[in-house]
Amino acid sequence: MNSAPNAPNAVTVIGLGPMGRAMAAALLDRGYAVTVWNRTASRADDLVARGATLARSPADAVAANEAVIISLTDYAAVNAVLEPATRALDGRVLLNLTSATPEEARAGARWAAGHGAVQITGGVNASPPGIGQPESQAFYSGPREAFDRHRPVLEALTGRVDHQGEDPGLAALHYQIGMVVFWTSLLSFWQAIALARANGLTAADILPSTAETTNSLSETFAFYAERIDAGMHLGDVDRLVMGLASAEHVLHTHADAGVDTVIPAAVVDLFRRGVEAGRGADSCSALVELIAKPGT
Ligand code: NDP
Repeated sequence: MNSAPNAPNAVTVIGLGPMGRAMAAALLDRGYAVTVWNRTASRADDLVARGATLARSPADAVAANEAVIISLTDYAAVNAVLEPATRALDGRVLLNLTSATPEEARAGARWAAGHGAVQITGGVNASPPGIGQPESQAFYSGPREAFDRHRPVLEALTGRVDHQGEDPGLAALHYQIGMVVFWTSLLSFWQAIALARANGLTAADILPSTAETTNSLSETFAFYAERIDAGMHLGDVDRLVMGLASAEHVLHTHADAGVDTVIPAAVVDLFRRGVEAGRGADSCSALVELIAKPGT
């Protein structure tokens, strides 16, 4: 095993995009000795001015501390950065907060283990301004002992940390499930703004009503979650034929306004396939079965 300082208050951060910079800053705020490395070295300037140490290479950054936070764009970047540093990996705990698929995270953990390192996979549910805030949250998975040992570092990044299990893919899975909701929700808001603009309204004009819809969704989610887990798609509250008609009104409103119809057309397509599959009298939630097993 490589000798590492392993000081509980010393940590390396590799990757200084908006997230990595926010993480390094939060750790400096809490008195950690922080070693940083980034492909574009100038992104470290502010952190170095605050006392961080800029490593000369990824290998030097990894060698500096047992705990190595990795915050890169994707796992292709992780491979590009760590491949030349493999000899420094033995004995390190890679707190890999890079977005990935569960399979990529598992492969990354196997690769790290092959070089004597442990990977804790992370999925951070916060934007850079949320880093260091007590209410922010992140998913983790991987060996429990390593997670517990480095928990204070992780809690410096987000006040709430949830260990999902030993499988290194689980944190990535939970993170990507959250991102399904996040990206489609955000895109639905942007779509709504485009439609509003085409009709002379601004984003501010529609914010109150769209926010009200969004706020009501957690109750709606809870209503459907219980029924869906029970395998129940009773059309007592809503029926798929109604959903199709409603989705078509949304689509035609966009077409009439000359706004891009990719998203509303995809929604209509799903509803129509549900009706064509014979589920028209069931709840719109029957679409879950169609999405889970397309083509059936
Ligand atoms: P960015 O993509 O902006 O930057 C990440 C870093 O990756 C940069 O320092 C960049 O280096 C480096 N990088 C990319 N490709 C390579 C490469 N081939 N070789 C070496 N370095 C490379 O990401 P963010 O900081 O915004 O996010 C980091 C991770 O956190 C991502 O996986 C993202 O999905 C996730 N995330 C981001 C959130 C956000 O709001 N930003 C929120 C939650 C999670 P360089 O500076 O030289 O370009």
